[in-house]
Amino acid sequence: MDLQGLKFLVVGAGFYGSVIARKIAEELEENVLVIDQRMHIGGNSYSEIDPQTGIEVHTCGSHIFHTSNSKVMGFLKPFMSLNGYRHRVLTCYRNQIYSMPINLMTINSFFKKNFSPEEAQSFLRGLIQREKITNPANLEDKAVSLIGRELYEAFIKGYTAKQWQTSPRELPADIITRLPVRYSYSDRYFSDVYEGIPLEGYGRVFKKMLKHPLISLQLGVDFMQLKSRIPADTRIVYSGPIDRFYNYRMGRLGWRSARFEKECFEKDDFQGTSVMNYADEEIPHLRIHEFKHFHPERQYSGRTIIFKEYAKSATENDALYYPVNTENDKKLFKKYERLAEKENKVLFGGRLGKYVYADMHQVIEMALHTFETKIRNKNEP
Ligand code: UDP
Repeated sequence: MDLQGLKFLVVGAGFYGSVIARKIAEELEENVLVIDQRMHIGGNSYSEIDPQTGIEVHTCGSHIFHTSNSKVMGFLKPFMSLNGYRHRVLTCYRNQIYSMPINLMTINSFFKKNFSPEEAQSFLRGLIQREKITNPANLEDKAVSLIGRELYEAFIKGYTAKQWQTSPRELPADIITRLPVRYSYSDRYFSDVYEGIPLEGYGRVFKKMLKHPLISLQLGVDFMQLKSRIPADTRIVYSGPIDRFYNYRMGRLGWRSARFEKECFEKDDFQGTSVMNYADEEIPHLRIHEFKHFHPERQYSGRTIIFKEYAKSATENDALYYPVNTENDKKLFKKYERLAEKENKVLFGGRLGKYVYADMHQVIEMALHTFETKIRNKNEP
């Protein structure tokens, strides 16, 4: 690979890298090389058509696009149109199905009541006050202070233990504030203005975004193998793991990964919904994804594909999914961040580069912001 005279190198073809590469090509009219270690674009958001069934499969688990940011939607417009899918999640606890996130339906079914919104609120308030939690600084205290111990133990404790394999008292509180608690029957998982699944599938969205005469793409390329050959003047946008960039010299940041077991059935519908969570700790899988439900506008019949998701800790060759972010991780990340601040040719970004539990739209926001503040301006003479 000839790197002579290369002005911009983007490491990682997920949302962060792809958005920045597109902006560099389109608005700065500069050549940009995008590399990715994997053999496909799109990072963990990638999707492709399963050749056996024709069903669009999210290869790294369900990805639902949602945002209230019209700038993000404006940027995506040439590459992506959303269908009308609205995400609703169910959870199975002790062989009963409940609605997630916790809402009036969940509360009434679980406590076998018929509470009005006000009654449910005052009932839960009583349970919460009993706990006397004053400063909820970890996931467990935060969850109990929001929903009380009974609902926490049923719907959060086992699922979180499986997903994180870390004591919920060591996990950051903000993991749980991703989920709203509602005292109404509204059961939408997200409350953003825009929501849906790309009509064309995520794989094609990335293909369109990266298709530009000034963008070249090389897959299956490890940045660490290339690093020593990169010209000193090349500006690097790095969306790989920040600790790997520095050869883990101060230690490894904690990550969770996932393993998926694929099954195909000769029937129209396996579980009647796109995502079913499994709250019991004894059930080894975390959730089951059934992808055909994401595309009600497509004609699929006779067969369905499911992925059973099992959480696992991330070892050397695993894809990284969720930053664990314990207090030790936070301290370690700060050290890497201090090193990163000293770089004048490298910008770090994305979930892996910034060690953040960010959704797709937040990563796109970060990319647009970085481009405006750190790339476009710096490129001016
Ligand atoms: N969570 C839970 N029970 C559920 C769903 C989520 O305890 O049925 C907790 C769990 O700790 C999880 C966090 O809420 O890590 C955030 O869930 P979200 O659905 O946002 O996770 P993602 O879709 O990113 O995997």
